[in-house]
Amino acid sequence: SRIPRIVILGAGYGGILSAIRLQKELNYNEADVTLVNKHDYHYITTHLHMPAAGTDNPENARVNILKLIDEFKVDFVKSTVTQIRPHEKKVILEDGTLSYDYLVIGLGGEAETFGIPGLKENALNIRSINSVRFIREHIEYQFAKFKREPDRKDYLTFVIGGAGFTGIEFIGELADRIPQLCKEFDVDPSLVKIYNIEAAPTALPGFDPELVEYAMKVLTDKGITFKIGTAIKECTPDGVLIAGDEFIKAATVVWTGGIRGNHMLDEAGFETMRGRIKVDEHLRAPQFDNIYVVGDCSIVMNDEGRPFPPTAQIAMQQGEAVAHNLIASIRGSQMKTFKFSNKGTVASLGKGQAIGIVGSRKLKGNVAAMMKKVVDMRYLYIIGGIPLVIRKGRF
Ligand code: FAD
Repeated sequence: SRIPRIVILGAGYGGILSAIRLQKELNYNEADVTLVNKHDYHYITTHLHMPAAGTDNPENARVNILKLIDEFKVDFVKSTVTQIRPHEKKVILEDGTLSYDYLVIGLGGEAETFGIPGLKENALNIRSINSVRFIREHIEYQFAKFKREPDRKDYLTFVIGGAGFTGIEFIGELADRIPQLCKEFDVDPSLVKIYNIEAAPTALPGFDPELVEYAMKVLTDKGITFKIGTAIKECTPDGVLIAGDEFIKAATVVWTGGIRGNHMLDEAGFETMRGRIKVDEHLRAPQFDNIYVVGDCSIVMNDEGRPFPPTAQIAMQQGEAVAHNLIASIRGSQMKTFKFSNKGTVASLGKGQAIGIVGSRKLKGNVAAMMKKVVDMRYLYIIGGIPLVIRKGRF
């Protein structure tokens, strides 16, 4: 009989972990594995707030995919997926077509703008290496422009929409970066304004209230102005209109307020919630026992019947579980029910500052910042071993 073909879409946290685990476990000629990704690098999304603010080099947030996979065991195809055809067991790429027996969808998330007018067109998103290089250059350029048009205070006004993990981590870095930029461009730091605007009644909804309060204090001391419980009503090229009909003039708006699944999943006819597929206990799409979904494209429910938040942590665990279940279906052995094991969460607040929960312990300040580094290094170790920790780790 023919060797089964496994196609993995996306080399993010979920996809790359699936590929690495499959190449480790599969025997010779047991399956053909193909990994498809838009770029020839994997990006470490959880680092992206740093290069976006300009406090770290984008090179530290990406790894060449061929350094992570063994080309004798996994075929890598650098291409963009344009369509998934689940009934035909085919995937359409910008430059070809792939057929599969088993599919793993790990294409990551997209910004969810909740229909807020102008947000899609006028706000920047922290999503990829390309987008963070753009944000970094854009921020610097505003300082240069201000020197030519000193009455344009909006060049020095930065609005970050959303006080979830991404928004909070980004403003922590941005607040660290501003003094450097002020020095470089001879700008009075008191002219720079950073607003964080969040519609929910608290920053970091769902996180420990004591740690949230600590984070708000650290960031307020660094010069951030919070507007919590305040919805953005519209975003224009000149700034944002917020609840209470206040208009904040700002040349930079970064939206971190929502994530949805990849738009191709709706187009493919899958049943989705905000573009994400609610998977079964083996991480498969309903009605397709040969299609697995991982990471931000998937929804896994917790014991209370609510979706786990989309994180790198759950995506990695799903990637490994999918590899196990793929091998089980090929060998006809027992599949495993996926169970998310929460190892904790740490959010950075800029240099030397973070908050986190590890097990039942609350961490803050420098201890939490060190834990964040440990988590980052552990990831590098899992995907690339000691050599990658040495090359990309920030000690
Ligand atoms: P992703 O990692 O998003 O990867 C998707 C891959 O698919 C990418 O390689 C992309 O290039 C590729 N792709 C997309 N479209 C196509 C296409 N059409 N064709 C081909 N390839 C395509 N989570 C945590 O657990 N801890 C954190 O501290 C944390 N911090 C974060 C900080 C920031 C700034 C951000 C933005 C996110 C953070 N997250 C964190 C969330 C975490 O990064 C995501 O949940 C995680 O990346 C999801 O992984 P994934 O496998 O679904 O896809």
